[in-house]
Amino acid sequence: MQSLLSFKHGVHPPEHKDITAGIASRRFPFPDEIILPLSQHIGTPAESLVQAGDRVERGDVIAQAAGFISSSVHATASGVVKSIELWPHPNGTMVPSIRIDVDPNSTQMQRPRIVPRWEEVEDEDLSGEIGKAGIVGLGGAAFPSHVKLTPPKDQPIDLLLVNGCECEPYLTSDHRTMLEHPEKVYLGIRIALKALGISRAVIGVEANKPDAIEVMRNTAPHDLDVTVQALQVKYPQGAEKMLIKAVMGREVPSGALPSSIGALVQNVATSANVAAVFTTGQPLIERIITVTGRGIRKPGNWVIPFGTRLRDVINQCGGLTDDAAEIVFGGPMMGLGQANLDVPILKATGGVLVLSRDECKRQDILPCIRCGKCLEVCPVFLNPQLMGALAKAERFEELAADANLGDCMLCGCCSYVCPSNIPLSQLFAASRVQLGRLAKLA
Ligand code: SF4
Ligand code: SF4
Repeated sequence: MQSLLSFKHGVHPPEHKDITAGIASRRFPFPDEIILPLSQHIGTPAESLVQAGDRVERGDVIAQAAGFISSSVHATASGVVKSIELWPHPNGTMVPSIRIDVDPNSTQMQRPRIVPRWEEVEDEDLSGEIGKAGIVGLGGAAFPSHVKLTPPKDQPIDLLLVNGCECEPYLTSDHRTMLEHPEKVYLGIRIALKALGISRAVIGVEANKPDAIEVMRNTAPHDLDVTVQALQVKYPQGAEKMLIKAVMGREVPSGALPSSIGALVQNVATSANVAAVFTTGQPLIERIITVTGRGIRKPGNWVIPFGTRLRDVINQCGGLTDDAAEIVFGGPMMGLGQANLDVPILKATGGVLVLSRDECKRQDILPCIRCGKCLEVCPVFLNPQLMGALAKAERFEELAADANLGDCMLCGCCSYVCPSNIPLSQLFAASRVQLGRLAKLA
């Protein structure tokens, strides 16, 4: 029997994946309005190519990448552009967004798009085609995939690590992708390997998805040098650095990228969407999203067009239960709490989690008792207790320079174990925002 690899430290939160893991994904009905922010990715916001009154078809590029680290946006439904205006974004800010009145009489067929046969595209040009399709990492970070697939020339990649861990509690969209579309995941892997000019891939899957491990092993193409590696169930096993440590035994140095040690990590859902670009010509306009938690009446996995409003998702899933208390985009460890039902689903939204009152009991924040529990779980061996004290004292420069805030993944392990209920990872996230503001003022 293969041993289960993992990393040091981390936590074991309750999984709650049983709510939706066994529910096959279904296509979400098209809403009457779609809202597509120009900023759905890490990097410079895209530039709009449309104006109010324009007719757009599903799959049309409506905003183009503006700069090297940026990503294009495509219409996720056919209709007429209503306006381009500031709109509530899931990150809590107002962001320029394209609003589309969806055509109720349209068949919503994607506009045909001519794409070259991937086998005939030069290796270095494949990432350009992936960029045109607006593909970003679907594991949560939304980093443009075409940039990731073009690592610096002096940092050659020797292993593609395909991330099927899905270690956040509750979420099951990657699990369903592996069960329902293994052939797409493998085609996406082939294309990424060709783009990188390498031949070997490892798919990492946490051992709590034995059916996905079996499907991926049974469908592995014989001519592909790929291993499906079962991994210990531990949070945050799906974080890039933790996956690299578990599978390759290598550590990404502080402040460096995985490419510096020859690794490139791509999520299984990203792989499946890369495959779609070269088979049907479909750009990134939809994905499987888990809608779950004890606060939603009909949990499930849905293929949802980006830009669908949160309120439409909730209504389609039977509405909120009487004891619904909090809505989160993503999982409970790293997800973003939502206060506005008009925010749209984005490319990076893997799940909508509605917690009941029982699931999110609020507790008083108490003073630090220096128990050291946060140090014992931090996967990157930081000192969250010291960092928390510096953040509270607004000593942001020291937090960055001496306490290595830049290495913090905001994974939430420290907050999870803190007996004083100190929201450490939220303090660190807010500190980063403050440091960004200070840098702009300098
Ligand atoms: S876990 Fe909480 S109480 Fe314990 S040392 Fe860390 S911050 Fe202080
Ligand atoms: S949030 Fe940051 S400091 Fe806290 S455990 Fe995760 S990596 Fe460590």
